[in-house]
Amino acid sequence: MLKEEWQPLLTAKSYEEAAMLVKSQLNACQYRRSDLKNRTKYSFKCNEYRKYPLCSYEIQIIAADDDPTFVTVMSRNIHQHQQYERNSTTRLPSPIRKTVSKYVHCGLSQSQIKLSLIQDHPHSPIHETKLINLINYERRKNRREIFSVFDLKSWCDQHKDNTQLHSTFVPFYIVEHIDNIFILFTTKQLFRQIKLTSFFQIDAT
Ligand SMILES: [Zn+2]
Repeated sequence: MLKEEWQPLLTAKSYEEAAMLVKSQLNACQYRRSDLKNRTKYSFKCNEYRKYPLCSYEIQIIAADDDPTFVTVMSRNIHQHQQYERNSTTRLPSPIRKTVSKYVHCGLSQSQIKLSLIQDHPHSPIHETKLINLINYERRKNRREIFSVFDLKSWCDQHKDNTQLHSTFVPFYIVEHIDNIFILFTTKQLFRQIKLTSFFQIDAT
């Protein structure tokens, strides 16, 4: 979009006063400070630039070095916050989010959800990673009791040194992340019997 000319907006008695006005009234945030030859320039942009990356609103606060009580504020362009100017990379469109939420609550699998979405929204391209993230998010949303890798690790620690013969005993484990988990479950009783037997059976899951 074409950049407009800088328009004088107001004057202030100090940089602090001007900055406070700009932040609270004009919805802008500072991103740069430039020390120029005889003045300091503070550059501001839209405070919601992540949400509306196409918003080209800009503010400049200029403080003269020889008179720091004379501060001018200038603006360029206006805020543009229409829906289509939203950052489309952040999330799937809301009708799709609603459908995914519904299917997750019905207990559909990931591939079933994907197939149903293609039928329900044939004209919307569906970003695979975003869909997986959304499904995971929806599945966890109402399940605070979900077991994390950290919980699993703590559980293994608690069972590392079990004195009871017939209780679960974890002599060795690796719990790094969801794709790197190895836990050896056994009981001390079973361990004792190893030396008495000539067969050894291992069960893996
Ligand atoms: Zn804006």
